[in-house]
Amino acid sequence: MNRWVYLFSEGSKEQKDLLGGKGANLAEMTKLGLPVPTGFTVTTEACLYYLNHGDQLTDELKTQVMTAIEQLSAKTGKKFGDLKNPLLVSVRSGSKFSMPGMMDTVLNLGLNDQTVAALASNSQNERFAYDCYRRLLQMFGNVVMGLDNSTFEGRITALKKVNGLSFDNELTADHWKQIVSEYKELYRKNLQREFPQDPIEQLYLAIEAVFGSWNNARAKTYRRLHGISDDLGTAVNIQEMVFGNFGETSGTGVVFSRNPSLGDPGLFGEYLINAQGEDVVAGVRTPKPIQVLAEDMPEQFNQLKAICENLETHYQDMQDVEFTIEREKLFILQTRSGKRTSKAALTILLDFFKEGIISEDTLVSRIEGKDLEAALHPNFAETALKNRVSFLSGLAASPGAATGAAYFSADAATEAKARGERVVLVREETSPEDIEGIAVSEAVITSRGGMTSHAAVVARGMGICSVVGCERLIVMEEENQATVADETIEEGTILSVDGSSGKVYFGEIPMEEVGHTVALDELHTIWDRHADIKVRANAETPNDIETGMALGAVGIGLARTEHMFFEKTRLLQFRRLILADSLAERLAVLKELKTVQKQDFKYMYEAAGGKPTTIRLLDPPLHEFLPRNAEECREVAKELGKTFNEVKRKTDNLAEVNPMLGFRGLRLGVAYPEIYQMQAEAIIEAACEVTEEQEFSIQPEIMIPFTIDAGEFAHVRQAIEEAIQNNLRDNQRTLDYQIGTMIEIPRACFVADQIAQHADFFSFGTNDLTQMALGLSRDDSPRIVTQYLEAGIFEDDPFQVLDKAGVGALMKLAIEGGRKVNPQLKIGICGEAAAHPKSIDFLNELGIDYISCSPFRIPQAKMTLAKATV
Ligand code: PEP
Ligand code: MG
Repeated sequence: MNRWVYLFSEGSKEQKDLLGGKGANLAEMTKLGLPVPTGFTVTTEACLYYLNHGDQLTDELKTQVMTAIEQLSAKTGKKFGDLKNPLLVSVRSGSKFSMPGMMDTVLNLGLNDQTVAALASNSQNERFAYDCYRRLLQMFGNVVMGLDNSTFEGRITALKKVNGLSFDNELTADHWKQIVSEYKELYRKNLQREFPQDPIEQLYLAIEAVFGSWNNARAKTYRRLHGISDDLGTAVNIQEMVFGNFGETSGTGVVFSRNPSLGDPGLFGEYLINAQGEDVVAGVRTPKPIQVLAEDMPEQFNQLKAICENLETHYQDMQDVEFTIEREKLFILQTRSGKRTSKAALTILLDFFKEGIISEDTLVSRIEGKDLEAALHPNFAETALKNRVSFLSGLAASPGAATGAAYFSADAATEAKARGERVVLVREETSPEDIEGIAVSEAVITSRGGMTSHAAVVARGMGICSVVGCERLIVMEEENQATVADETIEEGTILSVDGSSGKVYFGEIPMEEVGHTVALDELHTIWDRHADIKVRANAETPNDIETGMALGAVGIGLARTEHMFFEKTRLLQFRRLILADSLAERLAVLKELKTVQKQDFKYMYEAAGGKPTTIRLLDPPLHEFLPRNAEECREVAKELGKTFNEVKRKTDNLAEVNPMLGFRGLRLGVAYPEIYQMQAEAIIEAACEVTEEQEFSIQPEIMIPFTIDAGEFAHVRQAIEEAIQNNLRDNQRTLDYQIGTMIEIPRACFVADQIAQHADFFSFGTNDLTQMALGLSRDDSPRIVTQYLEAGIFEDDPFQVLDKAGVGALMKLAIEGGRKVNPQLKIGICGEAAAHPKSIDFLNELGIDYISCSPFRIPQAKMTLAKATV
């Protein structure tokens, strides 16, 4: 025999699959001895059987339901259809996951023309009894028989109007009697049948309606949108009625065990005196805040509070509780995990941990990335977003949300900011020259580029929200305009940008109210205790470094020195360097540059407060710094005191067809050793001075990028060492330092054992390694990658999530090679993909020492690394 029915006293919270969420929790509360009205659950299996066998309730099921009803009668002393003491029940659906769209609730089932009289005389309240009856007719008519609710409500409105009344609670017993007969008439007129008077028939019809609602269109859509399987079915909960509409000592309400928007401890919610279930949510009367109950009914309030605390501790989660008070007696009708904002989620978890409700491991495992992200960045208010449709979307490159006026050039953005405007920079793509424009903007949107493009990396580094690679966006910078299909963005058009979802909206969207700032420091201490792999920051400006440190970095893993040349005067110096005609000219510029770089590095060391700092020598894809057209050549010529032709010729000379595989990294170091020597000296001098001036000592890690070959690395290392040794000797100083390399070219992975003989550490640059391993341009690939994702060829964008099979295999090879020569070899990863939560498991497998990422990604990375350990 199949078991289709469970009494609440027989189930438990673990049985959500069988009893649905609501049923499992009702059973659990019954087990805990809480005041739950008695009842039983018809299982999800019964529902599936019904749906798969011609939508018929089997005799076996009916027998089990009737047995349960008898047990209910035995417990309550009430009987279905009894003329003295009739049993009334509520019927509610409840699948494994809470699912709006299915049949909801029928209350007061069991009432009919006879039992209503019994209810009236038992309660000595005729008005109450007929109000209950009309509610049954209305809910049953709506959810079981499919009549439109407004048909019913319209009758009440009309009656109030005729009698010059405003509120339902002003209607008398006679009014409700009249409504009851009008409702019955509606059944006849619309359904050509009578309202079923037999409580058992009512019950079977209600059960069938719940079962059937599993497959209604709204429920199906909801499941599809939320990835819920169609094969779960729904349970039906049948429970003795308790009445919140019994008069002034009765009421009903909904409470959260903690504030769901900010996370504060203490009950949060509302209630209505003399009301039934749906009145609270229907908005017919304005409910009172739950704290008022403490004055209205202190005993019941305290009992409710104690129950909520008990439930919270038991479930180890914030609860959303429905209750009813019937003639001063409190009943709990439902409990479930409460929905909450991200800020509340984090605050609650930390408080639970401090209050001893959850363990440290549970805290670590329960923190969710999206909540952490929302706590770190401003976001649009969820309620406001609900009614808005985005007109443009792209890659969610840097999280957070902001509103501002569109500007199409860095200069226009800077000017607008100076006028006090909030700015959204809209570009085809950004280049180093745009850096100031980016810095003054609230958000950056580009039509091209991927997750590792300039705009994405720089915005992320600065904590500015950004959406890149918006393919439908056509930017006409010259005309100060952009278009998306038929829509036009003019200069000054107000845009709202959501860097967490990659969506862009017209007009302003209100921001979410900022509650408490979450105690990130506490979380960092806990995460550091758990994870073996450390997290450093990719940062070079003091601002970024401070942000990185504040967000929990244990050091700097990648300071990209070419990023120090984006500011206008620096850019000019850098252009002078690369456009120099002779060694003498270059040396003169280098002398100037050494002074400013030394200052840069001192700031960096100080901002990092003595934590390990890896500085990468110049790795500029040269084209990013060259004048891009004749006009820029003219400007540069003027600024550098050269002729247009000189600049043009040199620029043409340096132009490369494939600059990302051109004159970068070590190629520059081999051709112009004096540049790297200058940088190395600046690094060393700054380290010595800071060590002398501060309480901490600096042992710089100098990183050489783009290594292909051991001989090449050794060659350049020797040049750098010479400069460093001379410098130390001349200044009569000593200093510990390391010289390592980035591993970002496939060949370097194959010959890692040879390179490790000369390098003190490795750091994988997975941006370039992915580009070269897959043969996909890191800047141009979004279109291709999007296609591959849509076609299901790629599961993830390899520039965002480490490609374990390919790039990962190369990394394994390099680590094996490197550690064979030097078992202590320190190994890090500083490409963007390392910090993605989906890459993290693999990193544990690799056995690396640290990852390094943009400051704002650090908490997320630390969280995921710690999570992997519990
Ligand atoms: C990399 O290639 O992964 C890297 C970190 O360096 P960059 O992005 O500066 O090329
Ligand atoms: Mg690189």
